[in-house]
Amino acid sequence: MILDGRATAERRLGRLAGEIRASGLAPRLATLLVGEDPASRLYIRMKHRACEQVGIGSVSVELPGDATTGVVVAEVRALARDPSVDGILVQLPLPSGIDREEVIAAVPGEKDVDGFTPLSLGRLFSGKPLFSPCTPLGVMALLAEYGLPVEGQDALVVGRSLEVGRPMAALLINAGATVTVCHSKTRDLAGKTRGADILVSAVGRPGFITGAMVKGGVVAVDVGISMAGGRPRGDLDFPSVEPLARAITPVPGGVGPMTIAMLMENTLRAARERVCRPA
Ligand code: NAP
Repeated sequence: MILDGRATAERRLGRLAGEIRASGLAPRLATLLVGEDPASRLYIRMKHRACEQVGIGSVSVELPGDATTGVVVAEVRALARDPSVDGILVQLPLPSGIDREEVIAAVPGEKDVDGFTPLSLGRLFSGKPLFSPCTPLGVMALLAEYGLPVEGQDALVVGRSLEVGRPMAALLINAGATVTVCHSKTRDLAGKTRGADILVSAVGRPGFITGAMVKGGVVAVDVGISMAGGRPRGDLDFPSVEPLARAITPVPGGVGPMTIAMLMENTLRAARERVCRPA
C-alpha cells in the first residue's frame, strides 16, 4: 500500500477550506524569512500558496541575512502583539549568526503553529500537546487516514532532531507505541530497524534504509528529502523496501505535502482558540 500524502493532504485542505468558510473566521498566518536561502524561499512560497488555497490570509515578513538576533526577535514580538495574526512561522534554518533559541522562544504559545517553542515541545512531551510540529503531526495524520494502528506497535525513529525525530517519538509515545530512537551514534542500526513495525526515517541520506534493514510487513515512513541526481530522494531505498512493506510513503508525494496541510490545520485551530479566549 502506497501512502499517498499528496492526495491525503489535498483532501484535508479541501475539508479545511470548507471549515474556514463555515467558521466565519479570517485566520491569518505570518511567515518570517531571514536571509536568501533558495530552499527556504521555496518552502515559504508553498506555504503561502496553501494559505490562498484554503482561505487563510497570510503576511510575509522578510529580513536580510545579516539581521541581528535582536532585530529578528523584535519582529517576532511585533507579530506576537498584532491581533490580526493567528499563527507565526519562523522559517528554519536561520542564518548561522542568529540565536535560534531566542527567536523561537519569542513566539507566544498560542501563535506557535509550527510547534517549536519550548512551551509547545514541553507540552508535547508531557502528553498534553498544544501545537505539535507539522512534519511529525503529518506522519501521524497519514497513518490515521489509512487506518494503520499505532497503539501497541513497536515504532522506531531514525533521527533525533528537535524538528522531526524527537517530536515524532513523542507523538508515537502519546499514541501508545513502544518507541526506539536511533541516530548517528546508534550501534547495530540494522539490527534495531529490523524489529520495527513502524519505521520512520528522518536522516536526509538518499537510499539509506534498504530492504535488508526492515522486516516483512513494516509500515515504512520516509521523512527524508535530499536532492540526488537532480531529483528529490527519500531515505528509503524504495525498490528494495517497498516489496516487503505493508505500507510505504513515496518521496516526493508522501510526508512533504502533509506537513503543509498540518500547518494550515494548526493555523485554523489557533484562530478558533483565539476567538474562544477572553480578551
Ligand atoms: P537533521 O537535523 O540533520 O537530523 C538528522 C538526524 O539523522 C540526526 O539525528 C542524525 O544523528 C541522524 N543520522 C545522521 N546520520 C545517521 C546515520 N548514519 N545513522 C543513523 N542516524 C543518522 O535533519 P532533520 O531536520 O531532522 O531532517 C531530516 C530529513 O528530513 C532531512 O532530509 C530533511 O530535509 C527532511 N525533512 C522533511 C520534511 C518534510 O516535510 N518531509 C520536514 C523536515 C525535514 P545525530 O543526531 O547523531 O547527528
